[in-house]
Formats: sequence, structure tokens, C-alpha cells
Amino acid sequence: MSTDPNCVFCKIAAGQIPANKVHEDDELLVFHDIHPWAPVHVLVIPKRHVASLAEVGPEHEALLGRMMALAPRLMRDLGVTNGFRVVVNTGPDGGQEVYHLHMHVMGGPRPWARG
Ligand code: AMP
Ligand code: ZN
Repeated sequence: MSTDPNCVFCKIAAGQIPANKVHEDDELLVFHDIHPWAPVHVLVIPKRHVASLAEVGPEHEALLGRMMALAPRLMRDLGVTNGFRVVVNTGPDGGQEVYHLHMHVMGGPRPWARG
């Protein structure tokens, strides 16, 4: 599996940094964002290192499909009943801070802290 030793999300996937996990399977990990924008704010990441959505190609289609298809199930399981937002910040102008592909999934009653 591809990992980057300097990548914080690879370290979370490897269990080297703690995270508040809500889901794990063979390919994906989901944990709560440490600075939530919304009452429920989780990050869906592939366990293997992919730097950004800008790096994604046809070989990642199934992985992206799994990430997206997991969102409604996560929100249901976390008690979100009135809609949610999915965001993938990509590259410098996209506001990406952590260069390991991740999908923000946010929900819960408004107002939110951000977003
Ligand atoms: P961005 O790259 O802009 O999509 O944002 C990265 C997100 O990762 C931010 O919302 C951070 O709060 C979150 N984050 C960074 N480090 C951690 C961590 N160790 N555990 C959980 N969330 C994190
Ligand atoms: Zn990584």
C-alpha cells in the first residue's frame, strides 16, 4: 500500500496518530475532523496515499465511488437527518491544507461554525 512517511493522514491510517474513528474498512477510513465546521464533520480518506483529487485518474474511479457512496450511510449512522455537505478541497487555490485525498462530509442543525 502506498504511504508517505511525512503525511499526517497516512499516520492516522497506520495508527501512529490517534483519531476519533467512525468507520474503517479495507480501503477507507473515516474520522472526525479536529476543527469541525458543523455539528457533525467527518473526513473520509483512502488508506493508501493519494495526494489530491488533482492526482486522481481512471484507476481511482472505484475508490471515489466508494468514498461518495459511504457518505449517506455515515450521516444516517451519525444521526444527520436534514441534509449534508460534501467538500473536496483541491490544490492551493482550492484551499487544500492536507495533501492526502480526503472528503469532508458535514451535517447537523445550522448555524454552523463555518461553511
Ligand atoms: P483541507 O486540506 O483544507 O481540506 O483541510 C484539512 C482538514 O483536516 C481540516 O479541516 C483539519 O481540521 C483536518 N485535520 C488536520 N489534521 C487532523 C487530524 N490530525 N485529525 C483530524 N482532522 C485533522
Ligand atoms: Zn498520506
